[in-house]
Amino acid sequence: MSGARVLVTGASSGIGRATAELFAGQGAQVAMVARRQSALADAARALPKDCAFTIAADVTREADAERCMREAVEKLGGLDVLVNAAGILKSGDITQTSLAMWDEMLNINLRAVFHLMQLAVPHLKASRGSVVNVSSVTGLRSFPGVLAYCVSKAGVDQLTRCSALELAPFGIRVNAVNPGVVVTSLHSSGGMGAEQYEAFLERSKGTHPLGRVGQPQEVAELIAFLASERAAWITGETVSIDGGRALTCAR
Ligand code: NDP
Repeated sequence: MSGARVLVTGASSGIGRATAELFAGQGAQVAMVARRQSALADAARALPKDCAFTIAADVTREADAERCMREAVEKLGGLDVLVNAAGILKSGDITQTSLAMWDEMLNINLRAVFHLMQLAVPHLKASRGSVVNVSSVTGLRSFPGVLAYCVSKAGVDQLTRCSALELAPFGIRVNAVNPGVVVTSLHSSGGMGAEQYEAFLERSKGTHPLGRVGQPQEVAELIAFLASERAAWITGETVSIDGGRALTCAR
């Protein structure tokens, strides 16, 4: 990835942060995007010097998304890779999911991904670059109690496949990664208490056939592979990285 010009959303935490670290460690130039400037600054400080800069933006706001793409492209001198990792998770079944919650989840997890991809297309055409979207096992499989989240991720998967077809003639590749449970701030930010999270992680050992949950760095490795020339003939894929979780059925 040496010299690659990369924009990573959700770079203040978890999978996005690990991805920014990995890309920067491989010699890429990284624009790190998230809402919280202080958390972004902490994340950027951990990277090799002069490999990254931060852009505080709420990517669900159209003007913010436009500004962050403009700033990133200006400072990077173009764009080779867009990684859409920003996202949130809130629980709720069909009776509990308010329209406000539905909109919030769909706005960040799907609409903002679409918007940033749309903004990136002219720059990716120039570089014959690629997009990696962070989807989820919940895009590929159905789970009760996280309705809007599952729908948003299924939308990301179809967005990935359809746009891959549309952008292939321009040499732009679009792929997604579909992680199982990964240890990040996602669940606590979504309202899960510390005790409940510990119990969830413990239970997840049983629901993931390899007997453990994942780490953000493992997902970052797959993102970096899909973004790289080594994956030059892969597009429109939704790639599971979940310890076998997507293979299982309820019994
Ligand atoms: P984290 O909560 O650790 O990170 C989420 C990131 O998204 C943060 O950097 C947050 O930064 C950013 N973010 C949230 N809302 C916005 C917004 N409106 N504008 C800009 N940035 C935003 O969670 P993960 O690292 O786990 O999540 C990354 C992706 O991975 C998500 O799409 C999630 O759905 C997906 N995923 C996670 C799994 C897991 O088990 N952890 C499993 C499968 C998929 P800030 O708060 O500073 O804005």
